[in-house]
Amino acid sequence: MKKTTATDRNVTRRWRTATRSVRGGAWRSEHGETSEALFLSSGYTYDSAAEVAARFAGEADGMTYSRLQNPTVAMLEERIALLEGAEACRAQASGMAAMTAALLCQLSSGDHLVAARAAFGSCRWLVDSLLPRFGIDTTVVDGTDLAAWEAAIRPNTKVFFFETPANPTLELVDLAAVCGLARQHGIISVVDNAFATSVLQRPLEFGADVVAYSATKLMDGQGRVLAGAVCGSQQFINEVLLPFQRNTGPTLSPFNAWVVLKGLETLPLRAKAQSEVALSVGKAIEPRIAAAGGRVLHPGLPSHPQFALAQRQMDACGPIFSVILPGGRSQAHAFLDALEIVDISNNIGDARSLACHPASTTHAGLSAEVREDMGVVEGMVRINIGLEDVADLVEDFDRALSAAGV
Ligand SMILES: *Cc1c(COP(=O)(O)O)cnc(C)c1O
Repeated sequence: MKKTTATDRNVTRRWRTATRSVRGGAWRSEHGETSEALFLSSGYTYDSAAEVAARFAGEADGMTYSRLQNPTVAMLEERIALLEGAEACRAQASGMAAMTAALLCQLSSGDHLVAARAAFGSCRWLVDSLLPRFGIDTTVVDGTDLAAWEAAIRPNTKVFFFETPANPTLELVDLAAVCGLARQHGIISVVDNAFATSVLQRPLEFGADVVAYSATKLMDGQGRVLAGAVCGSQQFINEVLLPFQRNTGPTLSPFNAWVVLKGLETLPLRAKAQSEVALSVGKAIEPRIAAAGGRVLHPGLPSHPQFALAQRQMDACGPIFSVILPGGRSQAHAFLDALEIVDISNNIGDARSLACHPASTTHAGLSAEVREDMGVVEGMVRINIGLEDVADLVEDFDRALSAAGV
């Protein structure tokens, strides 16, 4: 038997996470290459006109055009689906392409969506600005309040949309409670799992229907490419998402898919190690920031109001935390400017530690009132912890806190 392919789900489903992340979905060409091949081809050729006709008619297997299928992208999709425990996955050109596709593929004029108020800036823009333009009503609720989700439900509510932990407030949504409520009412829950990934949190196990990703973040993990993914049932992916995706084209490039495939090989190691370093750094700097009247927000810290929920639904709490400095925007900027190791950058999930000021960057497109309402205050700095030495990072933060007068 050829020990080369990993396309048989009966085999790969028996594998544990680390094995899935290295080998899941991989298959080899006749050359027997060790590393997954990069198929940079926009189209395919056929032995006969009848053959291509059969493929277009769905009567024969095989690829027809890279907007629809590509071998490298298909390997990534299978690996992400396996890691997620999902029946199917479709890769997208970016995280925002994934969120847009996951929502627009199933919503129509006259439908209603409920979303958590704490969200990545562009996710809020979809909810506040894009969907209403197409006659889709939206309601924004405090995602931590189950009664608020319930009160927002209308007869035409079709989708619940939220991220947990939320970017950059690190607020959690109770997956079992909110997805359970959605199920009771026949509502589809769409969870943006970018901050955790399937290694740290698997929303489908808590009753979510669709899990959407920015794979730009922890999945790539080294700050190289933009990518996204949508996971769900075969029925949802093939019958609801695919018609939208094939005809609108938010397709991931094979090159970017290949880079993310390489990133997934080390995802379990990185996600766990970065979570540990983040928790250590957070614990080290919290007393000083709290003494000055500020806060450190990370679901793995006992001071987080939803610490107990984090312990229930996450295996580890991820590499990202936020600090709220008492001196507002000027102090936050002074802190960023004084960092020597940690870069000022608005990316997350990278193996390098990065920090940014959400109110003037990722969330600058929202009004001051919306920012205030979702908890993105002027003194907030969002920090992505990488794989550097804990002691070096703590020294860097201590130095910058002193320089900023904290
Ligand atoms: C970054 C991010 C996105 C958008 O992903 P891109 O790959 O940058 O398009 C969406 N949701 C969350 C929670 C994110 O952090």
